Amino acid sequence: MSAFDYDLFVIGAGSGGVRAARIAASHGARVAIAEEYRIGGTCVIRGCVPKKLLVYASRFSGDFSDAAGFGWSVPAPTFDWPSLIAAKDKEISRLEAAYRATLDKFNVAIFPERAMCLSPNEVRLSSSGRTVSAKTILIATGGHPNVDRKLPGIEHVITSNEVFNLKQLPRRIVIAGGGYIATEFATIFHGLGSEVTLIYRGGKILRGFDEDLRGGLVAAMTAHGIRIINEKVFTKIEKTPSGLVGTITGEEKLEADQILFAIGRSPNAKGLGLEALGVRMDPAGAIVVDNNSQTAVPSIYAVGDVTNRVNLTPVAIREGHAFADTVFGAKPWSVDYTTIPTAVFTTPELGTVGFTEEEARRQYGSVDVYKASFRPMKAILAGRDDRTFLKLVVQSETEKVVGVHILGPDAAEIIQATAIAVRMGVKKSDFDQTMALHPSAAEELVTLREKWVAPGEAAA
Ligand code: FAD
Repeated sequence: MSAFDYDLFVIGAGSGGVRAARIAASHGARVAIAEEYRIGGTCVIRGCVPKKLLVYASRFSGDFSDAAGFGWSVPAPTFDWPSLIAAKDKEISRLEAAYRATLDKFNVAIFPERAMCLSPNEVRLSSSGRTVSAKTILIATGGHPNVDRKLPGIEHVITSNEVFNLKQLPRRIVIAGGGYIATEFATIFHGLGSEVTLIYRGGKILRGFDEDLRGGLVAAMTAHGIRIINEKVFTKIEKTPSGLVGTITGEEKLEADQILFAIGRSPNAKGLGLEALGVRMDPAGAIVVDNNSQTAVPSIYAVGDVTNRVNLTPVAIREGHAFADTVFGAKPWSVDYTTIPTAVFTTPELGTVGFTEEEARRQYGSVDVYKASFRPMKAILAGRDDRTFLKLVVQSETEKVVGVHILGPDAAEIIQATAIAVRMGVKKSDFDQTMALHPSAAEELVTLREKWVAPGEAAA
């Protein structure tokens, strides 16, 4: 009989915590999990899933207007935000119930309350006041949206936590931020019919993504009618009888019905009693862990956004899985962080895997670049000017494809499949020898023959 109430206590029932709990239980561990909000965590309740549902909704406006080019006459469409939100809520509740059912099936005890660490082997539950002991504790508490707390009028803004439950569609929305969440919401609201302004303190949105894709997305968003303001920030936000007025650097005033702050996220590592126990934090406030997700306190582990490694759902899930297999299944493995495919679900969509051209040049010195930019077939009859852009980054010496970047419809789907090949070390000649699938946009990936030469550079 163990001296502890549980073998594993997980704090946070999100992507990483639920996976770790389920796998540890499947290895025979006695597991408990605490969740202060809703089971499923950020991704399911107020992140990836509801966002993608809103993305789908936002793209119908383009589809309706494209339809005329294909012989359809569509009566002037109308959109009802409360219906969309109700349908979204129903689906989120279904998913939450499915997550709960999985935990129940694996006999994981669920504590619906906030938890914190009292000692290396004790957790305190805040509502019931109970103390529970466990041989191992896993912190999987995720992160939260940042806001500029010193900004006058900050209490009037919303974040991604609130945006999914607005009572009505804002007629005018200003979004602060330049990362993937800010840009996604900009095209979501634009597609749903709002007037959208994006304000970003940097020079160009989507820092860290390939330059060509960033430029292409800015051009497309601007052409669609989204106003992007760079190198400015809010200095004040005021409530008026007709909505909100945000003053930005340079004294311009932006009127809006909602102002959404999407200026980054921070780890939920404070207030968990961890520092007092000797768990180390990095300067960003994230929990420092080793390759096995173990903290400086041997009985305490951490996975997912709270460790601020790569803040994506599939990464949190893998970290949770690796932890559980290693600690409870006698099957040690650790997560491979190379070639993680990612997407930005803007319209047009952006998908990417591997190194950007700039990173590859820094890493390898000499790289060959192949690019294609074309109007996709559907756009021609639709009368759209949108272009699809594809780019391969190839290490010159080995001919390995080290980066693939796509801007255009279905970029995420194409990149997920391409990522398998890139991870396996695919060479440019493998792309060349692969038969094209015609007619498709992705066929351009296997028909790119001419190396791209920068203007002014002589071809080798
Ligand atoms: P979370 O899923 O955040 O779960 C942490 C849980 O811990 C939460 O439920 C929280 O309530 C709970 N908790 C916190 N503190 C305590 C406590 N003391 N006691 C009890 N419970 C606690 N990722 C993608 O891969 N693709 C996407 O398209 C994508 N889109 C996103 C869109 C938005 C708007 C946002 C905000 C995020 C998005 N992400 C996306 C990121 C993704 O949601 C996270 O990377 C992922 O959810 C991290 O999982 P996690 O297990 O670390 O934490």
